[in-house]
Amino acid sequence: MSEEQESALTIGTDKVVTFHYKLTNEEGKEMENSHSGEPVAYLHGHGGVIRGLATAMEGKAAGESFSVTIQPVDAYGLRNEENQQRIPIKHLHVKKKAKLRVGQIVAVETEKGPKQVTVVKVGKFNVDVDSNHPLAGKVLTFDVDVKSVREASAEEVSHGHAHGVGGHHH
Ligand code: ZN
Repeated sequence: MSEEQESALTIGTDKVVTFHYKLTNEEGKEMENSHSGEPVAYLHGHGGVIRGLATAMEGKAAGESFSVTIQPVDAYGLRNEENQQRIPIKHLHVKKKAKLRVGQIVAVETEKGPKQVTVVKVGKFNVDVDSNHPLAGKVLTFDVDVKSVREASAEEVSHGHAHGVGGHHH
């Protein structure tokens, strides 16, 4: 496929997209920025990015830049205040002498495997953690630079994710 044909592709189902992004919260604070590393790759129409971002990507082409502000319901969902629990510090995946602090993100073992949680209170033997996604309840603004758009391979479509740079490695 020639360069010209590739650049004419627009984003839709079963396209592999690579992009750089900057993520800022409602206060304008930068939360994430991909520009210092490889672009992010995903297979459009198969999840992989939050719904609000996927919707904004529709119809865009390589070389396009845009900004989109996404409400929590189309991002990481609303916060559930019941997603807080008290657990023994010994159940945390932290080094024994590590000093826990409020706001720290740690891994706990659950029935479904390790889960990232945020420390909200530290006691002597127990710690209170919040298992909401750290970005739950947040209005997020993405500044996106679309780097490339290409047809997915049959293998990528059957796996439901992108392969290659920025994508899934087996
Ligand atoms: Zn795969």
